[in-house]
Amino acid sequence: MSASVTEMKKRIEVNQGAEGEELGTWDGLESALAAAIFNAAVDAIMVINARGILQAANQSAETLFGFNSEEMLGKNISMLMPAPYAHEHDGYLYNYCASAERKIIGIGREVTGQRKDGSCFPLHLSVSEFRQDDQQLFVGICHDISERRKFTEHIAFLAKYDGLTGCANRREFIEGLSTAIDACQSNGRKIAVLFIDLDGFKQINDNHGHQVGDSLLKLIAKRFQKTLRDSDLLGRVGGDEFVVSIILDSKGETASHIASRLMESLKEPFIIDDRTLSVGASIGISLYPDDGLTADEVMNEADIAMYQAKVEGGGCIRLFDQALRERSEQVYRLLSRLRKAISLEQLELHYQLQFDIQTLQPCGMEALLRWRDGVNGLVSPDQFIPVALEYGLMTTIGRWVIRQACKDNMTLIEAGLLDVTVAVNICAPLFSEAGFCALVHQLLVSTGLPAERLELEITEDVAMNSSVQVLQTSDELHKAGIRLAMDDFGVGFSSLDRLKKLRFDKLKIDRSFVADLTENHSDQAIVKAILGMAKGLSMRTVAEGIETEEQLAFLREVGCSQGQGFWFARPMPLPELINWLQERR
Ligand code: C2E
Ligand code: MG
Ligand code: MG
Repeated sequence: MSASVTEMKKRIEVNQGAEGEELGTWDGLESALAAAIFNAAVDAIMVINARGILQAANQSAETLFGFNSEEMLGKNISMLMPAPYAHEHDGYLYNYCASAERKIIGIGREVTGQRKDGSCFPLHLSVSEFRQDDQQLFVGICHDISERRKFTEHIAFLAKYDGLTGCANRREFIEGLSTAIDACQSNGRKIAVLFIDLDGFKQINDNHGHQVGDSLLKLIAKRFQKTLRDSDLLGRVGGDEFVVSIILDSKGETASHIASRLMESLKEPFIIDDRTLSVGASIGISLYPDDGLTADEVMNEADIAMYQAKVEGGGCIRLFDQALRERSEQVYRLLSRLRKAISLEQLELHYQLQFDIQTLQPCGMEALLRWRDGVNGLVSPDQFIPVALEYGLMTTIGRWVIRQACKDNMTLIEAGLLDVTVAVNICAPLFSEAGFCALVHQLLVSTGLPAERLELEITEDVAMNSSVQVLQTSDELHKAGIRLAMDDFGVGFSSLDRLKKLRFDKLKIDRSFVADLTENHSDQAIVKAILGMAKGLSMRTVAEGIETEEQLAFLREVGCSQGQGFWFARPMPLPELINWLQERR
């Protein structure tokens, strides 16, 4: 409904205030343009007199408050406010009119309005004063800011809490923990920090998709929250990492007990979209003030204890202690030395030849990473690769390894010393990186090594990662003529279907099955079974860790095609390998 000026005037004139107030005439809106603007305005516009009586209200005001003009005009504006504000407003208007000051009385502020149905909502209001026929009038222009308010509140929420689970985020958690520490400094109470990392969450995410992963995290947070007291603080500080801060009661439960209950809360499987999912957790605990005095320290130590729980196979609770502190300091030192070693190019590759078991001729070689450290000499990969993986250095190192191995193999081929495939070990993060195939292709082009002279070794955990990326990568590698070998086969959990899909050219039988091969009947049976399966899938087989003639004889008899081990040759740096090859000539 949009009122014309005359209509407006009529409405105002006809309308007698219910409170006996006479309405002022509205001559100001003589211009049709002004009336059109008044009614077309998106903002609600209302005019009151010095006693707060509504003189005019436009269409938007009707919509905003749910009253029609007839219901509003002639009434006190307080009908559009919740009771406490109405009272305040009356006093404010009275004081203002009593003072002689004339000015715009409000450029804009946020106030609360009340609709006809009694519901309240935030609105932005600006008020100015004007005179009409000697009458003192006020015009208020306002609009609903519920949406904006919700948005700002949401942003404020996200600054402190995790949008998915509603748990405190890292900053808020540390702030809460610091406050608790301040309080406990004077009352002498202890605080336990629990660092919880879910076991097997990544697989759930990979196998069922991120949406299911997200739903699972929400449910887990709910179960944790239910297990904890209201006064405990629960935070989410990483994809699948939760932290809890608990002010301990000297007569109450210990931190370990609470950790056990949190673990217990995960026991019952989660049902998401008809899927039944199970997830475990590894928990590390540290205490204020025993282990650390600041929030950062205590959290860091709980994280170290959690990492120890992971190392021990997960699904357990570990308390931070002195031994862990020493170990973590060692790791820290190792890491900073390793970073330096990468920049100083102190990493090198050694090559271990692989042999045809029938002819005893070299038929391949594996590149094995070494770190020549100024202090500790040659450091074995088992000592630094886990740390490099944990701290994300392994992809950088891996790229260097592929390039160097391709270059060295090219050197051997061009020198006419050896023309075989070089096998390079690829860690999970590098293999699953988008663009991995393009990287390999580019390294082959820049070093000139033919694709069929490069083989990539991945372990079962990489192969069994069911992400589409892994399947795509293996497919692309196969198309490019680059071979794929399954390393350390038999110690993980391979699915046979997956083996077939990933198009492995080679299976490397783990050396743990070769070590006791001549005495241990079950190892013999396992090796025979692996060979039978590999044959069925048209894959070649390499037995790793052959150290004795007896092991070799057994493997030859049961039809293993290739061997690698100290009995044939140890891993050697390139110059030594060149000498070895030249001498054999
Ligand atoms: P792997 O890929 O299974 O490599 C074979 C390991 O067995 C090598 O250990 C090799 O020295 C050792 N070996 C070979 N023959 C024998 C033997 O007759 N007896 C015994 N006891 N051991 C033998 P190394 O060089 O210490 O490497 C250990 C592991 O480190 C490798 O196992 C591989 O998983 C990893 N690794 C090595 N280089 C790299 C690399 O460049 N990148 C990645 N991602 N991992 C690497
Ligand atoms: Mg290997
Ligand atoms: Mg191996």
